[in-house]
Amino acid sequence: MTDATPPAGQAAARFATRLTHISRAGKHSHGFVNPPVSRGSTVLYPDMAGRAEAGKHRLEQHLIYGVMGGPTQWALENMVAEIEGGTHCQLVCSGLAAVTTPLLAYLKAGDHMLMPDSVYGPGRNFATGHLARNGIETTFYDPCIAAAGLEKLFRPNTAVLYTESPGSHTFEVQDVPALAEVAHAHGAKVLMDNTWGIHFFQPFTKGVDCSIQALTKYVGGHSDVLLGGVTVASEEDWEIVRGTALALGQFASPDDCWLALRGGRSLQVRLAAQEKAGIAVAEWLRARPEVQEVLHPALPGAPGHDIWKRDFSGACSLFGVVFRPEIPREAVWRFAEALDLFGIGASWGGFESLVLPTGGFVTRTAGSGEFGGELVRLHIGLEAVEDIIADLEHGLAALHAAG
Ligand SMILES: *Cc1c(COP(=O)(O)O)cnc(C)c1O
Repeated sequence: MTDATPPAGQAAARFATRLTHISRAGKHSHGFVNPPVSRGSTVLYPDMAGRAEAGKHRLEQHLIYGVMGGPTQWALENMVAEIEGGTHCQLVCSGLAAVTTPLLAYLKAGDHMLMPDSVYGPGRNFATGHLARNGIETTFYDPCIAAAGLEKLFRPNTAVLYTESPGSHTFEVQDVPALAEVAHAHGAKVLMDNTWGIHFFQPFTKGVDCSIQALTKYVGGHSDVLLGGVTVASEEDWEIVRGTALALGQFASPDDCWLALRGGRSLQVRLAAQEKAGIAVAEWLRARPEVQEVLHPALPGAPGHDIWKRDFSGACSLFGVVFRPEIPREAVWRFAEALDLFGIGASWGGFESLVLPTGGFVTRTAGSGEFGGELVRLHIGLEAVEDIIADLEHGLAALHAAG
């Protein structure tokens, strides 16, 4: 993080080098390359002076008590801060907790929040349920709204502009820098769910104050760990986020952190392979007669491509497919069920391909996300692209078969 910004062409390689060398064991692990899993609740002090001193370091990576984290958590915190380009990361037990913890930190009774219509579903439910019950009002806005339109939605008590780009299931790319400028002019904080962008979107260079990442996805990378990261880039934001995480007893198991550290070591190569495969599959689908539109921001001409090109240095392998309006839901379900390499299931970012028809499962209340046809979300894994395409071809044949 202390390095000067590398020239654009070298950025990926420099990132790969940093991911390989950050958070290593150093000289403290008998010479082993990796840090060990450090488990513990009680931390013993040599004397009372040591115990009294420890309590002053709640905002630092300092051994106080297990729930406040230890060496294994610190190693992953440092890696995630590096990935996001921030200064501090708070690890939490899931990606959803990485959404709810900063919302509780930045909002209080009487406040108002702006949230994109395309927000991750459980985040929407938290706003309309728990936050509403506790006196916090949310207005859902069209994720593609321009700065001038957003400005009209601000109220004197608007404390948070929440963003997520691209949006969950519908992949709208938000003009985060422009929207953040409006929020800051109104004294609001900007939160962003950066799970799709990972390191391709550097939130703190684009006006974001607090970045949320479901580490469950590509950082974990192997569909076997649930974790979240809340990253900030200022001491002021760190006090807000860390204070609430401690108050809530938020904690991430060292075993899970250790798994996520392993995932992080190969993040860059997995992402590069999956980005390439995702684009190849998206392009193939775009040429199919059954498909009305492919919602993949990295495809030229796709919705949001211009902003994606301006603000992102790459793409992950999660995207949407809109089928032609005349194709009924049952046919799309037949397609999904006929696939052999794609499992039907939630989550993404692992090594395996997934398919998820979302028609009837997605809530939109601000008028966004209407495409006419049935929507399917695909996650492209590490299988050979030729095999993935052959499988999709087979699935599309099943789509045409009489139900
Ligand atoms: C999956 C996901 C989350 C939540 O992560 P979990 O670890 O499954 O709780 C949050 N935001 C986005 C955009 C996600 O896709």
